[in-house]
Amino acid sequence: MSNPNIEKEAMFKLSYGLYVLTAEDEGKDNGCIINTCIQAAENPTTVVIAVNKDGLTHDMIVKTKKFNVSMLDESTPMEVFKHFGFQSGTTVNKFDSPVYGAKKSENGIYYLSEHTNAFLSGYVTDMIDLGTHTLFIATVVKAQKLADTAGVTYDYYFKNIKPAPSPKAKGWVCKICGYVYEGEELPEDFICPLCKHPASDFEKIV
Ligand code: FE
Repeated sequence: MSNPNIEKEAMFKLSYGLYVLTAEDEGKDNGCIINTCIQAAENPTTVVIAVNKDGLTHDMIVKTKKFNVSMLDESTPMEVFKHFGFQSGTTVNKFDSPVYGAKKSENGIYYLSEHTNAFLSGYVTDMIDLGTHTLFIATVVKAQKLADTAGVTYDYYFKNIKPAPSPKAKGWVCKICGYVYEGEELPEDFICPLCKHPASDFEKIV
């Protein structure tokens, strides 16, 4: 499965932002965290987002063709990533109480007004199946600045937001969310209970 010619450490050098991706379908509101959203063209203003197929938000966007992207800033606490990233909309209503200044835009979909420096609304024009993810190509129908704060990058998240393991921790730490597995050997098929990333995203605590 893993290709020896592809160093994970090399792939980690790519830079990304972090975003809350939201959707609405027949009264059901949901959202997740994505790290891939870029403006790809102008006239019309076009973005592409890559979304993991495992999540409910993915299926909602396939069906409704609409989404919002809230662009998180450096003030974003770990709780936002836990709330939207580490639990599933199939079992939890992530908008059952007002969260992080959530408001609805004209398309009927929530965006966050806290820890967010801008949001955009997209309408999907094309979808490309990439196996684990779907690439959605979308026309931007609205984009609004909310603050002049700096956007949070994946690198900033790793260095400043993700909790570091306690100095006493022993075992393996998830590089994505900071979860600690206590034990000498990490099972090869281990899946992080918080962020669902595989054993290959863990490193030994030394
Ligand atoms: Fe994790």
